[in-house]
Amino acid sequence: MSYFINFENSYAKELSEICEKCNPTGFPRSEILLKNYSLAEELGIDRKFIDSKECLNIFSGTSLPKSSNPIAQAYSGHQFGHFNPQLGDGRAILLGEIKNKDIQLKGIGQTPFSRRGDGKSALSPVLREYVISEFMHSINIPTTRSLSAIKTNEIVLRETEQPGGILTRVAKSHIRIGTFQYARSKNNEILKALADYSINRHYPELNNTDNKYLSFFAAVCDKQAYLISKWMSVGFIHGVMNTDNMAISGETIDYGPCAFMDRYDPRTVFSSIDHNGRYCYQNQPAILVWNLSKFAETLIPLINENLEKSVKQLTEVLQLTMPSYQEYFYRDIGQKLGLLDIDKRNIELIKNYLKILESDSIDFTLSFTDLSKVLIKEKKLKDSVFRSVKNFDDWYQNWVQELTIKNTGIKKIAKDMNCINPCYIPRNHIIEEALNNAVNNDMSKINKLLEIFENPYKKQNISEDYLNPSNSEFPYVTFCGT
Ligand code: AMP
Ligand code: MG
Repeated sequence: MSYFINFENSYAKELSEICEKCNPTGFPRSEILLKNYSLAEELGIDRKFIDSKECLNIFSGTSLPKSSNPIAQAYSGHQFGHFNPQLGDGRAILLGEIKNKDIQLKGIGQTPFSRRGDGKSALSPVLREYVISEFMHSINIPTTRSLSAIKTNEIVLRETEQPGGILTRVAKSHIRIGTFQYARSKNNEILKALADYSINRHYPELNNTDNKYLSFFAAVCDKQAYLISKWMSVGFIHGVMNTDNMAISGETIDYGPCAFMDRYDPRTVFSSIDHNGRYCYQNQPAILVWNLSKFAETLIPLINENLEKSVKQLTEVLQLTMPSYQEYFYRDIGQKLGLLDIDKRNIELIKNYLKILESDSIDFTLSFTDLSKVLIKEKKLKDSVFRSVKNFDDWYQNWVQELTIKNTGIKKIAKDMNCINPCYIPRNHIIEEALNNAVNNDMSKINKLLEIFENPYKKQNISEDYLNPSNSEFPYVTFCGT
């Protein structure tokens, strides 16, 4: 444990052509609202440091530790299908790395990539990202994390005046598909340096493979297929799966207009700017493959001197991604249903289950937790979310037949299901209420949510409201977290 904070600056040193040195301007009136002690401990940062004025000064950009060589990273990206060559960290500064993890200040003011933006962030989206990313972490979904949330005590101008905030984001790295798109537009040396850096940092075991860049592509495809399957299995809708918002580490990154689906509808979309539903729930796997095809394009010069061969090899790998995603998905949903062997019959069973959820608009999260209760007769079918489903018993009997009850027993199956099906998720109306209170200086609901999400599988002695979807007849709408 160190009382002082000590940064490495490997990205700034090794990839100086694709980032800009950039000192934070600082928000001297800041106060710290949320501190993540357990994450600090993982990073080897002393609790005393997290509580210190020094820490607040650093995380509000007011003072800079000697060891930090702060930068803003350059990247390009396809946003809603349209290529933008010049994006980059417009409101985030990377202080450096600790234990191979990026420590980045998001909402820290203007950088060379701010374009016309103010580089700032409103407090509400900062707190939202903090809560949702920590929830994702607690249910074992790869994600960037949140070390602190700060209130700047300065006003940020959006549609209305809002209090400003800064998030200290911790990530395996902030290298995105868009970073590769940017490097590719520079020259092959820079592209190669970025690929080597990425491999050394995230996939060092690939250094010994025959074609390490092709293996790297395959590894990223696999990590992302795994990730999107995890999203799908909790009803998470990222909302803005642009290529600049997909990390090659396989972590969920950039919690902007994301939200969780309540009633199962594959076309669900929350983001106010996603008019055509490009990033709706059911499109996420296909968009992943689309994004990976853009990633593949950037790698062409590294794979083979013969570019046609390069394209062929990358295409072969890319084509494996959807089948591999599907394997992950049926395994994940199967597990949520207590089904361990995923064969043709069980895949049919899962498909039929999802059809029932869709036709009867059943709450996705409650469906799994109710099912395990019905199984052990803790709840009657007529009191469950399946109560109005016609002929539900047909599906139910098929399901029970497929469960390996003989070997494991009903109780064990229900228990295993309860260990992976959260009963609490960041429900849209609950999060909104907590955020509204927070911007009016009452953090109690946010703190309560953080406490609940430390163990979202365990039923707690709190209002049932936390378990249920909103009754509102109006669809929930999210806005980009700017
Ligand atoms: P995001 O929606 O967070 O993925 O951001 C997309 C792009 O817009 C990134 O290049 C951001 O750095 C940039 N951006 C978002 N908000 C701001 C802001 N307030 N000021 C400057 N740049 C921003
Ligand atoms: Mg982004």
